[in-house]
Amino acid sequence: MIITKEKPLEEIYAMLEPHKKILIIGCDGCFQPPRGLKQANLTAKLIQIKRKLENKGFAAKTATVLRQCDDDITVSTLRPILDDEQFDAILSLACGVGVQTVAEIYDIPVYPAQNTLFMGSKIGDEFLEKCAACGDCLLGYTGGLCPIANCAKSLVNGPCGGPIDGKCEVGEYKNQCAWIEIYKRLNSRPGGLELFMKFRTPVDYRKRSNPRKSAEEVIEIE
Ligand code: SF4
Ligand code: SF4
Repeated sequence: MIITKEKPLEEIYAMLEPHKKILIIGCDGCFQPPRGLKQANLTAKLIQIKRKLENKGFAAKTATVLRQCDDDITVSTLRPILDDEQFDAILSLACGVGVQTVAEIYDIPVYPAQNTLFMGSKIGDEFLEKCAACGDCLLGYTGGLCPIANCAKSLVNGPCGGPIDGKCEVGEYKNQCAWIEIYKRLNSRPGGLELFMKFRTPVDYRKRSNPRKSAEEVIEIE
């Protein structure tokens, strides 16, 4: 899932300042914590209160989309609303991918209500970064623990000289050193140490140079 954090309300108010009629759209897709129709309605109320206190006009309509990052779903959901009414702007409660999808479809200003943080998973009460979409997955050689997303230096051939008592030198020794964790995991499995000692070729950054497109991926079958 994609992990996001709400933008400060003051930033949202400032972005929307020039606009009087706004469509606020939630997204029910994969991002966490979820911000669908309920959050869209709440955001509309907050903006309304602020505008009222300032004696400024404001009108909003709210909706939610199953996945804003899917152009077909977004168009079919928003068509009935946007065919009927005109809006000065759209405020999107989706991640940055959803915001850009909406902005690509509609020729009106689209603003983000979230800061998009990372791709991660929910472990207990926390969301933790798990994958940096490097384009050349190493999990099969690292005990299922990603060194790109979990090592502060994204090293691929074992730890740097910095860890102390299993903690990473980056960030004042608060986080576990990813490579010590990978070692512990592999060491507990048959053949794991061989995998740990295996030399991995330097990262091929061409595989993750932006912007990427799925149609450009070459599938090699040997
Ligand atoms: S190695 Fe890490 S960053 Fe690369 S694809 Fe696998 S999980 Fe994602
Ligand atoms: S201490 Fe471990 S996690 Fe931190 S940068 Fe070095 S190898 Fe990576």
